[in-house]
Order: sequence, then C-alpha cells, then structure tokens
Amino acid sequence: MSLHKNAIKIIQEASVMAALDSDFLANFMDPNHTHIVSLPIKLDNGETKSFTGIRVQHNNLAGPYKGGIRYHADANVDEVSALATWMSIKCAVLDLPLGGGKGAVIANTKELSSDEIERLTRAYVQKLVNNIGPDKDVPAPDMYTNAKIMGIATDEFMKLTNSNKRGVFTGKPINLGGSEGREEATSAGGLFATLEHLRSNEIDPNGLKVIVQGAGNVGSYAAKFAEENGMIVVGISDSKGGVYNPDGINTNSVLACKKEHGSVTDCVDQNHHKGAIKISNEELLEKPCDLLFLSALEDQVHKDNAAKIQAKTIIELANGPVTPEADAILEKNQIDVLPDVLMNAGGVTVSYFEWVQNHNDMYYEADFVLKSLDKKMCKAYKDTLNYKNKYNCSFRIASYIKALSRLQSIWENRGNN
Ligand code: NAD
Repeated sequence: MSLHKNAIKIIQEASVMAALDSDFLANFMDPNHTHIVSLPIKLDNGETKSFTGIRVQHNNLAGPYKGGIRYHADANVDEVSALATWMSIKCAVLDLPLGGGKGAVIANTKELSSDEIERLTRAYVQKLVNNIGPDKDVPAPDMYTNAKIMGIATDEFMKLTNSNKRGVFTGKPINLGGSEGREEATSAGGLFATLEHLRSNEIDPNGLKVIVQGAGNVGSYAAKFAEENGMIVVGISDSKGGVYNPDGINTNSVLACKKEHGSVTDCVDQNHHKGAIKISNEELLEKPCDLLFLSALEDQVHKDNAAKIQAKTIIELANGPVTPEADAILEKNQIDVLPDVLMNAGGVTVSYFEWVQNHNDMYYEADFVLKSLDKKMCKAYKDTLNYKNKYNCSFRIASYIKALSRLQSIWENRGNN
C-alpha cells in the first residue's frame, strides 16, 4: 500500500471510532495544494540540468503549513503527500498553531557539489516564493537538508521579497535566527514523552535495556539521552549494520567510531568494545529489550518480522517505521507502539519556538527551550493516553483522534460554508 494510503487508512479508522463529521473529513483528507516545479540549474561543468521540486500543502486550518524539505532521488508526490498529512496530524497532537506541509527536491545530493546544491536551493525558493512565507508556509530541514541549506533558502527568500522575514524557514543556523535546542529537539522530545509513559506505568527508567535503530541525528541523540536517564543501550545500528552486547555497549565510543570511520560497525573488534558483536539490522530489531527506538526509515517493522519483535515497547522516532499490518500483529502480542506523530514531534515543536522567536526578534536560552518542550511533550502524551483509555484503542489511533478532534473543532469555529 502507498504511504499516503496508509496515512488515510489510519485517519479513516480514527474518524469512525470517534464519529467525526464527514464534511470535515472531506475537507481534510486531500492536500489543499500540490506544487510541482521544474528547477533547471547550471552544473559546475557548465551544462544545464533540470530537477523536479515538490511542495505539498496539506492543511492550514490551524495555521501556516509547516514541514520539512527533503532532497532525495526517490522522493515522489505520494511520499511527500503522506509526510504532509502526518505533519497536519503531528502539529495538532502538540496543539501547535500550525498546519501540515512537506517538500522535496528529487535529487541525489551526494552527486552534487555544495555550489550546485546552493543553486538548486535558490531555484526551489525562486519557484515557490509566492507560496511560502512566515504566514503561509514555513519549511524546515528533513533528510539530506540541514541548517546551512535553510540559511541559503532564507537568504534567497529575504532577497526576493526585500524583507527581513527570517521566520519563513526554521532549522536555521543560530546566528540567522535559529533556535537553541533545535538539533537535539526530536530525540529530546521523544525521551520526554517516553519518560512520561514510564512514569504513568510506574516503571523506573534505570537499567531498562534499549535498542536504537539508526545512528544519525535522531538516533545518536536518543542513545545519549537514554543513557543520561539511566538506561542501558544494548544495540545500535546504521545502514551498514549494527553492534550488539546484551550487557550494554559503549555508546560514546561506538558513535565516535562512526564519526571517524563511517559506520557503528567499524570498531567492533577493538578492545573497548569487548563483548560486542556485529549484527545485521534485521537481527538487531528482533533482539529482546525494554524499549526499541526506531530512528532510521519508514517500513522497518512489517508483516514479515512483526511477530519476531521481542521489545516490550516500540518508540517511533522515524516517520512511518511500523506498517499498519505490523501494528495489528504487535497489538495482538501486547507490544505498545508509541506513534511517530507524537514521539518525533519534538522537532516541529522547537521549530514552532523558532518561528515565534523570529516573529518577536527575541531569543530563548537552551534550558528554557528544552523545559518548554518537556511540558508540551508530556501534555501531548497525557492527552493521547486519555483518548486511548476513552476509546480503548492503540496509542496511534488515540493520537489521531486527539489531532482530528482538535482540527474538526477549529473547522467548526471558523464556520464551514
Ligand atoms: P539521518 O540521515 O541523520 O540518520 C539516519 C540514520 O539511519 C543514519 O545513521 C543511517 O545510516 C541509518 N539507516 C539508514 N538505513 C538504515 C537501516 N536499514 N537500518 C538501520 N539504520 C539505517 O536522519 P535523521 O535526521 O536522524 O532522521 C531519522 C528519521 O527521523 C527519519 O525518518 C526522519 O524523517 C525522522 N525525523 C527526523 C527529525 C529531525 O529533526 N531530524 C524530525 C522528525 C522525524
């Protein structure tokens, strides 16, 4: 099933359970706008090559469209539409005054120079300048885009509009109006909600065994924060494979190894990793643990491996890492899945703080940002838990019911003729 159909299927399930208004749903289901633009740029060798840019603006009932831009060779409208839909849900789970959007440039940036990436970024902003802005649509980084690219995009937008509207993009470098705490926000938010989940089940985090799939921005901070809260990381992986030790791995040294050599698997044979073994990604997912943080890609737990998962709880830090078929199997096996639209919403929440800071030209310290994030994540978790108890459903369906009920109420209050 396509990713967008997956997203719609869950919305339909939640809507039936909560008896939502069919007129509201007819308004919500499809994206408001899908922009597809051509981006011809001069390559360094003097040739011109045209790329395709996508921006899906799913829904802006709650506020300006919000969501990242990914640069990826396999990006397509279906995937971007699903991600934009999830952003509408995610912002509503966190009660943010923002809607949902997502963008992409179909390109393999590993094959482009930094000058070519800059020209591509400027071309994307030039084509979409009338459709984005702090009050219209606020993009951010996603896969293979970063603070530097957001800085270039902001510069292009400010030049084209002859303005100082830095709030048009979030995830910027700090000295261009970026927020303290943004880099670690997704993982910090995920950990805050996980700790709230443990508190509500009267479970002490100390000594809990954790496996982290993905050792990028999100996964490496997740491992670090888990350890800081007394948990023991027993496995971590990247695209080349994983490292596993049932007694705990030395996360700092594994991540330092990845930085130096390219993969977490590269230093397993060295002394300080005594007891650790190399393991495939598939095997690592099936090892026993208390908490399994999925921080890499979509579709990682699926109908063929769901029954083999031994984790007690799965935390979705990536977008869409558990398929709907796997959800059903995990639920039957009484494994809780804490869903992406709640657990990875720390990133967009600190993006929201950045947007607010840009509006006011007043900047917060990291401590304040993280404390505010903690409050918002705990409230969103508790709201979701209340809906779960009320409807006797999974955390995923509960988070969708919370989001859709909020959006339906905004739709009603705005008048709907
Ligand atoms: P990243 O590119 O920094 O890291 C991704 C990591 O996953 C890399 O270490 C890569 O080697 C690893 N990986 C790839 N394939 C793998 C596989 N089959 N098994 C194990 N590991 C594999 O990306 P990121 O920013 O950390 O994002 C990770 C996920 O979190 C994505 O799904 C992204 O959409 C989602 N997300 C990120 C943010 C954010 O703020 N960065 C916010 C919300 C959601």
